[in-house]
Amino acid sequence: MIKKCKKCQSELFLDKNKEWFCPECEAEDFIKNFNPEDESDIETAEWKVVKPETKPVTIRLNVIDIQIAKKLAKEKNMPYQTLLKEIIHKNLA
Ligand SMILES: [Zn+2]
Repeated sequence: MIKKCKKCQSELFLDKNKEWFCPECEAEDFIKNFNPEDESDIETAEWKVVKPETKPVTIRLNVIDIQIAKKLAKEKNMPYQTLLKEIIHKNLA
């Protein structure tokens, strides 16, 4: 289950106060008001826009799946964990 933004239909994420936010709209608003001199703005950018909340988990995967994921990730020039994260995310949507 994912929540969608009413304004732009992008996926919503939970922030550290457990409130849903839209990274797309946040980023847009944020860029408008962004002050590179302001350290708290930079901090907000990091946790809100660039890094939605995540939690590490340990799962045992089929070795062949890992090999395929690594191969695909290499072709896409991205870390394979990022690729796996995307695949899981899309399939849960
Ligand atoms: Zn939005």
